[in-house]
Amino acid sequence: MKILLVAEYRDGKLLGSAYELIAFAQKMAADSVMFLAGSEAALPAYDGRLYLADAAVCGEFNPDVHKALLLDVIAREQPEMIAFSHSSYGWDLAPRVAFALRAAQVSEVVDVADGALVVPACNAKLRRNVQVKTAKTVVTLQAGAFGLADAPAGTPAVEKISADAAGKLEFGGYEAAEQGGVDLSKAEVIVSAGRGVGKPENVAMVAALAKALKGEYGASRPVVDSGWVEHKRQVGTTGQSVAPKLYVACGISGAIQHLAGMKKSEFIVAINTDKDAPIGEVADVLVVADLKQFVPLLTEKLQAL
Ligand SMILES: Cc1cc2nc3c(=O)[nH]c(=O)nc-3n(C[C@H](O)[C@H](O)[C@H](O)COP(=O)(O)OP(=O)(O)OC[C@H]3O[C@@H](n4cnc5c(N)ncnc54)[C@H](O)[C@@H]3O)c2cc1C
Repeated sequence: MKILLVAEYRDGKLLGSAYELIAFAQKMAADSVMFLAGSEAALPAYDGRLYLADAAVCGEFNPDVHKALLLDVIAREQPEMIAFSHSSYGWDLAPRVAFALRAAQVSEVVDVADGALVVPACNAKLRRNVQVKTAKTVVTLQAGAFGLADAPAGTPAVEKISADAAGKLEFGGYEAAEQGGVDLSKAEVIVSAGRGVGKPENVAMVAALAKALKGEYGASRPVVDSGWVEHKRQVGTTGQSVAPKLYVACGISGAIQHLAGMKKSEFIVAINTDKDAPIGEVADVLVVADLKQFVPLLTEKLQAL
């Protein structure tokens, strides 16, 4: 199988998700080629052919033009699969390409199992294994789901491409999301509340631990969806991406969408009643305890220091 990997470039920089695409191709045991609308000054370490369109000419984000460029590369390379990141760029472009090719699209792939694509179902409570039967398939990959085992290496064989059409859309620029006074991405310590807190009043004990550690408090999505914590404090794919020195996950199971937002934290402590909770796979320390007992006790000890 051959996969066309669609790397991303934003604000003059190559995005690290390019390496997740490469890791996916490796997991699929597939050959790959890469597409990038970017710049020669910011190429990925990649041992393969890379079709490069100059973003200064075709725009960093111009789905019309990028689609035309991609279809040209697809006609040349005939890949069976086209892989995007599950990002705003991928959400916009992947369906356009899938429709143009009359190809199936499988969104939010989080794993590969025996050649099948694993995708979340039922608000990520379940996983489905999708066996692809179409001649061509377009996939989007969940952020953080695939990682290279070794440091990225190689120099791509660059083939420059350009598009004739200017496209019907004009890109107006990027706008940073309103943080409302809390910028978790800059916090050195974050203590997050998950559904395991049980009720809204218990968020206060998580916030108190964060304060004792001179940090900020965050939350998983169900806690935010329940209205217990404001959205600006949500960590994960539909919240903020954080990388503090210390991340304490209180009553958080470790769903892929949460991990994608915090697994780059330097040191992770998880407090969970379930010793087999998936958060244990990324945690440096897993405290198997009821957070309602453990968190106030820890806060008290820290306050006494
Ligand atoms: C498109 C999409 C986007 C999403 N984006 C995000 C996102 O940005 N961020 C995010 O967080 N989620 C996101 N989700 C939801 C995600 O899939 C999970 O449902 C969510 O992360 C689960 O949150 P949780 O770990 O708090 O709850 P649960 O999965 O219900 O886990 C609760 C945990 O608490 C533990 N627990 C229970 N009681 C206690 C106790 N007394 N003491 C200690 N531990 C206890 C349990 O053992 C369990 O592990 C998204 C889902 C989808 C489909």
